Amino acid sequence: SIETFYRDSWAEVDLSKIDYNIRQLQGRLSAGTEIYAVVKANAYGHGDIQVAHQALKSGAKALAVSLLDEAIRLREAGIEAPILVMGWTRPEDAVTASEYRVSVTVFQKEWMEKVQHFHFEKPLKLHMKWDTGMGRIGVRTTKEMDDILDHFRNNPTFELEAVFTHFATADEEETGYFEEQERRFKHLFSHFERVWQENVEIHTGNSAASMRFPDRMKNFVRFGISMYGLYPSDVVKEERPIALEPAFSLQSRLIHVKKLDAGEAVSYGATYHTRKEEWIGTIPLGYADGWIRKLQGMEVLVDGKRHPIVGRICMDQFMIRLDQEYPLGTKVTLIGKQGAHEITTDEVADYLETINYEIPCMISYRVPRMFF
Ligand code: PLP
Repeated sequence: SIETFYRDSWAEVDLSKIDYNIRQLQGRLSAGTEIYAVVKANAYGHGDIQVAHQALKSGAKALAVSLLDEAIRLREAGIEAPILVMGWTRPEDAVTASEYRVSVTVFQKEWMEKVQHFHFEKPLKLHMKWDTGMGRIGVRTTKEMDDILDHFRNNPTFELEAVFTHFATADEEETGYFEEQERRFKHLFSHFERVWQENVEIHTGNSAASMRFPDRMKNFVRFGISMYGLYPSDVVKEERPIALEPAFSLQSRLIHVKKLDAGEAVSYGATYHTRKEEWIGTIPLGYADGWIRKLQGMEVLVDGKRHPIVGRICMDQFMIRLDQEYPLGTKVTLIGKQGAHEITTDEVADYLETINYEIPCMISYRVPRMFF
């Protein structure tokens, strides 16, 4: 699945790590709990089609994305497994969803009212979202739930496949709010059971909830960040409910190496000046690739050692200070291991004062993904 490309920067996605992480989780979950592999946002920047194929091979039973567009992309790639769109789908796109056998999320009676009037050749599969405290999308009261259920009763083309919710704090040390969300879910569910006789799936947990509280999970969990080998937070990383292996690394090569005299400037604004004679290397990756300007000062690995980024990061290139001369083509690791040293996604996230989720997502389409 390696496409041809003509540049010296690329991301490596080790699919065997995806396999490993899924199997680790499966070993921790109760026998009756299955996995939705969350492959939204191009599989968190890893490559949606390849990750989806691997996840299904490794035992995930279904896929979850955020947008109908993402679901259609997977269908057009020949993926037959169930796919859920967890975010908002426009009512006028519900027919398209049904044609692609894609399940979509419902949480508004106005949505059901609009969708009622369309002509469906195939059943429309729906998951009802319950907002138990995330405050984003979802039904909050039994009244809102009943209004939506009425539409299911009146229209056999609507299939209620599942009810689900999402936790806001499952990755935090303090579990009080998580437990409050569980209580609200139970309250909604006891009403649901009284008024709805047919069987539905239930899914509540993300990576954090499914790894930390496997016994409290229902038929399915939605496994995202930790399928990619990253912990959802420092708390979960310290608890280490399962050992994870990161799948993503980011590589490049030195495309220019030169010795500068003391006092020479490097990059836009001439903000960096060499203090003595210094070897400066140029790397063909920049902010248009997602290696943003705020990463100035961050380190990269060359020859198994750390070297700092000096001067401003440009759109397509940046410079590093080398400890010695290196040949052109020498491998540079921005995220990943070289010898005994490693720069983790978490370290890059900490440097940017953000969460690890954001890092592979921000590596742009211009960086080819290679799969192993
Ligand atoms: N479920 C929903 C509704 C989500 O929005 C997400 C992602 O943010 C997930 C599950 C997966 O969460 P995580 O990546 O923390 O496992």
